[in-house]
Amino acid sequence: MNILQIALRAIPVTLRWLLMAPWLLVGAARLLPRLPPPLLRRTRCPRGHEVRLHGVWQCACGALFAGHAFQDCPVCGQAAGWTSCDCGLAVRRGP
Ligand SMILES: [Zn+2]
Ligand SMILES: [Zn+2]
Repeated sequence: MNILQIALRAIPVTLRWLLMAPWLLVGAARLLPRLPPPLLRRTRCPRGHEVRLHGVWQCACGALFAGHAFQDCPVCGQAAGWTSCDCGLAVRRGP
């Protein structure tokens, strides 16, 4: 195989990467808002009870993990959208 053949073979791969690059960036941009871990340690339920957000949690996938209630699950990667107060009311993710 001479240098020209190697160069010709490399072109489609390069083109493929150029075509994929914008999509990779879009994918990375989608992940960005999830990267900073939620810093809020406590929040309140709709009835005003204080709800601690650090502790041991069970993900919908069944995995138990220690950390923040709304962090990504270390097993399935999904973050909970809500947790429940001791009074049973749902506490949504976010302020
Ligand atoms: Zn999970
Ligand atoms: Zn409550």
